[in-house]
Amino acid sequence: MTRRRRDGSEPLAASPLVERLDLALRRAGRSGIDLVQPHFAERALQAQPIARPLPRAAQSLPPSLSASAVEALRDCPYRFFATVLLGLREDSELEQALQKRDYGTWLHALLLRFHRARSVPRSAEEDIAKLRAAAREEQAASGLDEAELLPFVASFERLLPRYAQWLQRRDAEGWRFVDGEIERVAAWPELDGLVLRGRIDRIDEHGTLQQLIDYKTGAATELARKVRDPLEDTQLAFYAALLRDGDKRPLHACYLALDGADAPKELAHADVADSAEALVHGLAADLRELRAGAALPALGEGAACSYCSARGLCRRDHWPDGEEAVF
Ligand code: SF4
Repeated sequence: MTRRRRDGSEPLAASPLVERLDLALRRAGRSGIDLVQPHFAERALQAQPIARPLPRAAQSLPPSLSASAVEALRDCPYRFFATVLLGLREDSELEQALQKRDYGTWLHALLLRFHRARSVPRSAEEDIAKLRAAAREEQAASGLDEAELLPFVASFERLLPRYAQWLQRRDAEGWRFVDGEIERVAAWPELDGLVLRGRIDRIDEHGTLQQLIDYKTGAATELARKVRDPLEDTQLAFYAALLRDGDKRPLHACYLALDGADAPKELAHADVADSAEALVHGLAADLRELRAGAALPALGEGAACSYCSARGLCRRDHWPDGEEAVF
C-alpha cells in the first residue's frame, strides 16, 4: 500500500482503516505494518503554466438575461460564459437536512400567502397570529415536517413580533402591499432585442411612489456593503430595470433582511432608478462588444472568485503567480 504523508507543509495521518489493520496485526501477534520509505527516480520538468481562458461567443448570446446572469457578466465575463452561455452547473449533492436556502424559500412563500390575505387595519397581535397560520399552511403545502424546520424556528419566532411592528409602522406611514413574486420581462430598446427577465419578491406603494422589496435571509452586513456603492449592486438595479421599462413612477428599492437580531432591517439602494439606467446602458455596451467578437476573459479578481462555481474550469488556482491579465 502507498499513502500520502504530507499535503504541502501539512502532515497527513494514515487512513483509520490502515491504523485498524495495523492494530489487528499486532493483536494477532504479528509485527504490524512495516513503514518503508520509497525511492523514486527524480526527473526535472519544464513548468507549463496554464493561460487564462479567453473564449469568444458572439453567436451564442441568449435571448434573455436574468439578474444572476447579468451579475455574472459584471463580476467576471468567463463566469458568465461558463454558467450562462454553456449552462454549466455544479452537481448539487443530495442533502437530507433543510438548508438556509430552503428556509428562505419557505419564508418567501409564507409572507406572500400572508400578505395576499391581509386586510388593514388590524392589530399587531392579529398579524402575528396570521403569520403563524400562514407558516403552518406553507409548511403543509411544501411538505416540510416539524423536525426539518426546527433549526430555524428560533429565528422565525424572533422575527414574528418585530415583523408585525414593522408592518404596523408602515401601515401608519401609508404604505400598501401591492403584490409579490411578480414575473416581469422588460425589453429596453438599448438591448437590441435581448430582454431582461426576472421575478420581483414584492412591490409596495405609497401614493404614486413604488417600493421594490427583495427579501433576504443572508447576512445584513453583506447587504449593507452591497448597497453602499449603488452602482456595484446589480440585483436591485436589475429589478428596478424590470419595472422601469415603460413605468416612470418614482421608485425606491431595498433589501429586507429577515434574519439576525435586528430583522426585519431595510437596506435601501439610493437612487435606484439611476442605477437601473446605468445598468442597462452598461449592459448594452457590453453586449455590443460581445456581438462584435470581444472575448470573455476570466478576471480572477476580488471576492468574485471566492465562491465561484466555475473556479475549477477557469483554472484560477493554476495561473502563474503574479500574472497580469492581458485581454
Ligand atoms: S474563479 Fe474568478 S476568474 Fe475564475 S471564473 Fe470564477 S470569478 Fe472568474
